[in-house]
Order: sequence, then C-alpha cells, then structure tokens
Amino acid sequence: MHGMMMTQPLSIIEILRYAAGAHPGGEIVSVRTEGDIHRETYAEAFGRAAQLAHGLEGLGVGEGDRVATLAWNGYRHFELYYGVSGMGAVCHTINPRLSAEQMLYIIRHADDRVLCFDVTFTPLIEGLAEHLPEDLVLVAMTDRAHMPDSKLELLCYEELLEGQPDTYDWPELDEEAAAALCYTSGTTGNPKGALYSHRSTVLHAFSVAVALSKSLKEGGRVLPVVPLFHVNAWGLPYAAPLTGASLIMPGPKLDGPSLFELMDGEKVTSAWGVPTVWLGLRAEIDARGRNPEGFGHVVVGGSAAPRSMIEGFEKSGVDVCHAWGMTEMSPVGTHGLLSEPMRELPFDAQIDLKSKQGRRLFGVELKIVDEGGQPLPHDGRAAGELFVRGNGVISGYFNNAEASAAAFDDEGWFGTGDVASIDDKGFLVIQDRTKDLIKSGGEWISSIDLENIVIAHPKVASCAVIAVPHPKWDERPLLVVVPEGGEKPTLPEVHEMLLEHVARWQLPDDMVFVEELPLTATGKVSKLTLRDRFGDHALPDVG
Ligand code: ADP
Repeated sequence: MHGMMMTQPLSIIEILRYAAGAHPGGEIVSVRTEGDIHRETYAEAFGRAAQLAHGLEGLGVGEGDRVATLAWNGYRHFELYYGVSGMGAVCHTINPRLSAEQMLYIIRHADDRVLCFDVTFTPLIEGLAEHLPEDLVLVAMTDRAHMPDSKLELLCYEELLEGQPDTYDWPELDEEAAAALCYTSGTTGNPKGALYSHRSTVLHAFSVAVALSKSLKEGGRVLPVVPLFHVNAWGLPYAAPLTGASLIMPGPKLDGPSLFELMDGEKVTSAWGVPTVWLGLRAEIDARGRNPEGFGHVVVGGSAAPRSMIEGFEKSGVDVCHAWGMTEMSPVGTHGLLSEPMRELPFDAQIDLKSKQGRRLFGVELKIVDEGGQPLPHDGRAAGELFVRGNGVISGYFNNAEASAAAFDDEGWFGTGDVASIDDKGFLVIQDRTKDLIKSGGEWISSIDLENIVIAHPKVASCAVIAVPHPKWDERPLLVVVPEGGEKPTLPEVHEMLLEHVARWQLPDDMVFVEELPLTATGKVSKLTLRDRFGDHALPDVG
C-alpha cells in the first residue's frame, strides 16, 4: 500500500527560495577580489541567481550543460551554485590548485560550455588559453570597472546579470538530474568526476544541518575556509541557507592574520576547514592572546586533526568537531560532536573522543572488511578497509567505466581507500590511507598515529611519516619534520615522546628536516611527493 502524500522532487533551488522567504536575516558576507567587503541577503542572492540563469540562457546554456567555475569563496560563486543547478545545468567546480595539465583534462572531460573565473585567475586562464576548447565562453566574475586587461575574449559577470529579470521560471527537474560535478584531485592517474544529483545534494544538506546544528542555525555566522571549488565546501553552501545561518566568505586570503581579522570583524561563530589552515589561525590566536570575538566552534576535516590542535582549541573555549569524508561522499561521512553524557567525561577522555573521526551522518552506512572482504566487528580494535554506501555516495564516476568498475565491492559498497576501525559507540578512527600505511615485517604502522604524536613536540611545526623501502622489513617509517623556530628536535627526543604511546618497533628509523611540507591541491600533505623525494633515503641499520 502506498502512502497518500504529495511528492515534490527534491531540488537545490528550493533551498535558496526557502532561505529567501524564511530567513530574511541570513546574509552572505564576502571578501571580494576587488578588495572590499560585500554583503547580500539570501533574498538578494535568489534574485541574482535568477538573473544569472537568464544570462546563461542567453549564452545558449541548456539543461545538462556544464558550467565551470574557477573561483574563491564569495557571493558570485554561491550564485553560480544555485543559478546553474536551478536552471537544470551542471555546476562544475574546478580546483585552481590542480596542475595545468589536470585542469585541461577535466575541462575537456566535463565538456564545459562556459567557464566563470575570479579575476585573480586571469594569468592562469591566459596560460591555458591556447589549449582550451575554442567554443568555451569565458566569464570574468567582476564588474566592468574591474575587468582584467587581457587579450582574451572575456564576458563580464555583472554585465551578464544586468537588466535581467530577478525572477526565473525555475524548471521542475527530475530529482535525480545531475546538478554539480567535482573531480577528485587524482594523486594517481587522471582526476575522476563525482556527479551529484539534486536529490543527493538536498539529502546531504539535511544530514549536515542535523549533525552540525551547533553551527548551523539562525543567527549562526559560519566561515567556510573549506573551498567552494572542492567538495562543495562540505555542503555548507546548501546547509547554511537551509538553516538560516549566514555565510562569511573569506575570498583568497587564508593566512592566520587575515582570517583572524575577518572573523573578529564579522563575529564569526563557527569556522570550517582543513588542519593546515588552523595551524595559521592558532598561531595568530596565540600571538594576540585571545580568540576572535564570538568564535566558539571549529569543524576540522580533510585530513586527521592532531590531538594537540584539538586540545589547543578546546582549552581556549572553542568546541572542536572532527569530521571525515571524501569527494565521492558529497562529502561529509562522519562528525565528531559529542552527546550530552560524553560532555560530562573528564577533559582528557573528551579529547580522546574528539581525536576520533566521529559518528556517521544519517544516510551514510559504514563497514570495515579484512583482506578477503569479510566484515570486521565494530569493537574499536579490528581495522580494515572502509566501505560506505548511502544517498550521498556516488554510484559511479562520470564517464569513466574503468574507474567505476574498480570502485565498488560485490555488494555495491564504495571502497574509500581508507583503513579504519569503528568502536561499539559508532566512533570511526581513520588509521591511514591504504597507500600510506607502512608495512614493516608483515605488520602495519599507521603514519597518522605517529604524526599526531610528533606534531605536539615543541620543536616541531609540522611533520609527516612516509614508508621507505627496507631490505629486511619491506618498509620502515621515515619522519619528515619542519622544525619550529631555530631549534631542531633530536631523534632520541622524538622516540622518547613516541614510546609513551606506540611500540618500539613502530618508531621511525630516521628523521629528515625540510623547510615546508609539499601540499596537494586540496591542502593535504602530499605523501607522494615526499616518497618521490625521500624514497632512496638510506636508513641507519637498526636491525
Ligand atoms: P582528494 O584529496 O583526493 O580530492 P578528498 O578531499 O575527497 O580527496 O579526500 C578524502 C580523503 O581525505 C579521505 O579518504 C581520507 O583519507 C582523508 N580524510 C578526510 N577527512 C579526514 C579526517 N578527518 N581524518 C583523516 N583523514 C581524512
């Protein structure tokens, strides 16, 4: 028997229509590439998304066409998220930190019709120009007065909107229609596209809003440092308007002092981003001896949040939520907010819990399996490859049968490439990426575990552990350290610290110093680059 209820297809533009009417106080504050701060309400953004849809229609963009963006976090990028998906086209966000070769690959692979870019990327576009498809329309995301001086044929974003009606007859789309496209950064091989639907995006936004209600609520002022150009800024552009929270968009400047100023001035209540960004902000907080005014909540994900970072925030009264996810999952999979009883635990026990990657979001199922694919118990000890399924998880890669065929198990679960354990309370612990684990004499060593301990050393600014081939043990850990200030830590000093937490055979055999760690396009430490550089490092003979 069917229920007797209306069915309205889930649609992205309905989120903004709702925010415009129900949350008139919600705003988008943006640090513009023009240099000033811009403000608009959700109602104004809804009107401008309509103008944009008219403008794009005038350029011949139709349902299913891909419209690419190459832009920082700002209101125009937000308008593209809604205008493009709302008219039935597909918003393809491009990560500007990809190599030129990868960027060209994905522009062609996605068959983009239009590319909208922030003017700071003009030199980048000029560099790519001769290899770009001839019919690709280029739109500079600024007004006439700030148009870049370029030999390229460029349209002006504000002129595209000017004079257009601020209402649009938004089509009723199939809720499974494609809405947005994002490519993984592809540390090996070509990038692979995750093609989100209206349905997956709206359901994911609901799940994020429920799980992270601490920051996502009317009156909340949320700073996405996580970029709109990758992994949908963890769903914030959808979840924030859904709840009425305002978005404070930082533009290109993501260093500690710039973030502090913006957060302080705009009374940001909650900030979301990868651990590397918070290192800069923490240093600024320490230098000034205070938090930005109103700041009480931080969401950290994208790579493991070190315990010392969590502790530092918590001691200064900022509640930390550690989250895990990936592009292929829309992207949030788990969140680390503690339940009321957990908040009654002693401080150290709370930090233990917050160092884990947290519990699953509604709509995401998790399983860990052994090397034969058999499910492992959720007892906090057994560790195996993590598989996921749910409404926000891809069912294949866009136009890539080969990668799609390799991504799922026989039961249709998606293989994350992470090795994890899950405890009896449902808390996930990511041990490592399968390719970054160190296999020593048949036993696994987690690089993340070692890094999280060493990063707390006062003479260590940042660090990474990589596998180096070893004639006897197959692989042994090598510690790569960026020293803090002038003084370098010694290996025995680091070993002593590690021995409080790990077995002697897991200690790094050697340590090398670098000025900075190489980062991937998504702000994670590039272990691949480190392995290329230090793969031949001669380890001392430690037996
Ligand atoms: P890419 O960097 O390849 O574009 P994503 O940004 O989607 O991909 O990264 C997903 C991966 O990042 C996860 O599979 C996991 O290895 C890692 N990751 C994300 N969040 C965390 C976290 N909180 N702790 C540890 N690893 C994480």
